Amino acid sequence: MEKKRIVIFDTTLRDGEQSPGASLSVKEKVQIAIQLERLGVDIIEAGFPVSSKVQFEAVKACSSEVRNTIIAGLARTLEKDIKSAYESLGDAAHPRIHTFIATSPIHMKHKLHKTPDEVMKMAVEAVSLARSYVDDVEFSGEDAFRSDPVFLKEIVEAVIDAGAGTVNIPDTVGYAIPSEFGAFIRDIIENVPNIGDTVISVHCHNDLGLAVANSLAAIQNGARQVEVAVNGLGERAGNASLEEIVMALKGRHDYVGFDTAINTKEIYRTSHLVSNLSGIRVQPNKAIVGANAFAHEAGIHVDGLLKARSTYEIMTPEAIGLTDMKIVLGRHSGKHGLQKRLEDMGYILSDSELDAAFERFLVVADKKKEVFDEDLAAIIEDEIHSVPEYYKLDYFHISSGSSTIPTSTVKLLVGDRVEQKSAWGDGPVDATLKAINSIVGMPIKLGEYSLRAVTAGTEAIGEVTLKMTVNDNLIITGRGASTDILEASAKAYVDGLNKIKYWQDTREN
Ligand SMILES: [Zn+2]
Repeated sequence: MEKKRIVIFDTTLRDGEQSPGASLSVKEKVQIAIQLERLGVDIIEAGFPVSSKVQFEAVKACSSEVRNTIIAGLARTLEKDIKSAYESLGDAAHPRIHTFIATSPIHMKHKLHKTPDEVMKMAVEAVSLARSYVDDVEFSGEDAFRSDPVFLKEIVEAVIDAGAGTVNIPDTVGYAIPSEFGAFIRDIIENVPNIGDTVISVHCHNDLGLAVANSLAAIQNGARQVEVAVNGLGERAGNASLEEIVMALKGRHDYVGFDTAINTKEIYRTSHLVSNLSGIRVQPNKAIVGANAFAHEAGIHVDGLLKARSTYEIMTPEAIGLTDMKIVLGRHSGKHGLQKRLEDMGYILSDSELDAAFERFLVVADKKKEVFDEDLAAIIEDEIHSVPEYYKLDYFHISSGSSTIPTSTVKLLVGDRVEQKSAWGDGPVDATLKAINSIVGMPIKLGEYSLRAVTAGTEAIGEVTLKMTVNDNLIITGRGASTDILEASAKAYVDGLNKIKYWQDTREN
């Protein structure tokens, strides 16, 4: 690999998916993986195979669908983890096993109950075992930044000897300051004697809002791989954001001087897909992909912009693919036109899924003359179910008004039975969800309820996202879309129920 190229290791599907409430199904993960390949990331970390059956299946499915990009599976330094990672990566054209163990005194003592010598031995054995399965092995020292630098350099040297081609130095708890982190990385690169061509990687968390800055400092001090997530998703405050690092490297190539293989025109589309599927919305003022990132309000700015865009814009919206999104379909676009547009947006559908999507599209096209990409995304995510539909909304009737108690009657398909119940509530949505749950009888606590108009206008599609907590631990995101917001709410609730059922059915322990 040439020296001036930064390897982009995307962990949206692993660390990003550990964002509270962001659980993705196997099918959703594959859809994101296909888009990540199109975006041009070098490595897709698809999951942590040993941790659950769904994780295993997701890594397996991504391995068989993605052909050009490296697929990585995460594993602790345990034999069963590494075996599971290898098995799930079986179909990958370019498999990587990513094994990790904590190296900081605080983690070794309180979490692992191991001495540094024991940790060193486990790390070396794990890398050797992983190398017996695949050629491409990455080692991470969890909480590396808070580790004793002398011990850390010893373990880096030992895992390189054992065959690790990439060694990752995470700031797991997001504690570093950029200049300090840069010096920390430089010390490793300059003082590990066998470093040779080993790629030093960094994985920065955003607890102090410094993940991108720390990653850039590391690059300037010799790191050649960065671990990032789309929209900055990840544990707690998240990981370094893919789009911010990539655009900083591109926009300030004059100063930093490194390239990536990212096709930046796919950034906006990727961000949208991840936001829609994970149910985690992007804040409007988020750098690069926020709704306001290219919006100009103040008159003096607009005046300047009209004269020359560079007065207030350091990059163009076209650079991240923003204007490419503005293609409008109508009734006469036909099924082929719809299919073409959906493929451009990153959705690969089966014939029956396409038929279902086309029917919904015609209904929407009748109500709205112009169908935007945002509408299509809402239709697809509503129509193409990521998990089996055990529960299905068949019929509902609501009576509501200013001087009546809102009541709702719902008919629900439960497997092959039909059940009907009525309930009253504080409002029509409340009454409907209560009626559904009186059929299903699950101990669900409803968290955040958000309603978003997908495009402007009163005829717009409304998209409802619900956070549902079951048994006080599992948080599921239910989504539903319709031009009728009550129907969208009911569908979102039923979608959540199906995900809960699927999770319970596929759970190992
Ligand atoms: Zn992490």
